[in-house]
Amino acid sequence: MKVSQIMTPGPTQVRENVRMARALATTNPDLDVQFYEFYKETCDKIGAFLHTNNEVRVLSGEGILGLEAACASLTEDNDRVLIIDNGIFGEGFADFVKMYGGEVVVFKGDRKRKIDTIELEKFLKKDHGFKYATVVHCDTPSGVLNDINKICHLLKEKGILTVVDSVAGMGGEDVRVDDWQIDIVLGASQKCISAPAGLTFLSISDDAFKVMKHRRKPIASYYCNLLIWKDYYKNQWFPYTPPISDIIGLRQAVDNILEDTEIIKRHSCIAKATRKAVIEAGLNLYIKDGYSNTVTVVELPEGINDKELLKHMVDEFDVFIAGSFGYLKGKVIRIGHMGENAKKDKMIYTLLALQASLKALGFECKKDMVEVFLDEV
Ligand SMILES: *Cc1c(COP(=O)(O)O)cnc(C)c1O
Repeated sequence: MKVSQIMTPGPTQVRENVRMARALATTNPDLDVQFYEFYKETCDKIGAFLHTNNEVRVLSGEGILGLEAACASLTEDNDRVLIIDNGIFGEGFADFVKMYGGEVVVFKGDRKRKIDTIELEKFLKKDHGFKYATVVHCDTPSGVLNDINKICHLLKEKGILTVVDSVAGMGGEDVRVDDWQIDIVLGASQKCISAPAGLTFLSISDDAFKVMKHRRKPIASYYCNLLIWKDYYKNQWFPYTPPISDIIGLRQAVDNILEDTEIIKRHSCIAKATRKAVIEAGLNLYIKDGYSNTVTVVELPEGINDKELLKHMVDEFDVFIAGSFGYLKGKVIRIGHMGENAKKDKMIYTLLALQASLKALGFECKKDMVEVFLDEV
């Protein structure tokens, strides 16, 4: 494996202090009472950067576990669940809801724009009876950012529980769980948090726990059952042995975020400068509104193959950016300026490598991307 600049929209680069934290001596996390304190403090710190007093849990598994755990824990047979879909992850929630017996109703948005909240409001006047709704904060394959605050308020007004996938948002975009009335928000270690992949975490409201407790039938899963985590602290008991080194690393990554008081501003500034550089170079952004500050998605110019371009960037410059998947496969490239990646020096080098690689494959940028970026940032 090469040690390259990973400028992808997850996994992201991992700071040295996080890597070192993962190498510290460990204890028996099931038996050592101090680890219960450490785990709880880590959860509280995650709650602090999500601006919530809700309970937070860290589970052992990639971000997808968070999505599935939320759906598994809330869904019962024939529950009506609203899927707010303007991207690949948005659409994907429907699979989990069906898997656990729910009835899916889709509110489909324009895939090149953020969810139109006026349209959503109209829809919610016509259709009722949803137990919960799912929405993605930043849908990473297209880079579209949804207005979670507005959407969750509209849903809660109708008594609908809100489930938000902010895996690619939190840490780079503001997330205010209590103000925005998010019942379950989930994240993962390997995006803006900038720890290695392997952990997911969720903040869970009292309303969400209440619904889980009063189910007609028990949750049809063990690993995806959020209820078994409810009283771990009171009972000093974990449902399974926590991956202690992963959690020590995550704790350091969360401390890094909490110390970085300008983190949201920096993401916004870097993203704006990146978009400007791309546009002035004569390239097109994929989406039309709702630009995420964590990832920039650029249409491939005529005649440029994504695989060739990415390979050139790795071979010649040691920089990984990403293509996309699903309906976007082969159509766009993605630069992940999230977490540790959202640094000026890394972006300058990435833009330089991108411009030179485009040139080598036959596309000449109209303006120097690094110059435009530096003027704006
Ligand atoms: C990365 C990501 C996930 C986790 O899925 P992967 O298997 O890592 O792709 C979930 N939701 C969103 C929006 C993501 O960006």
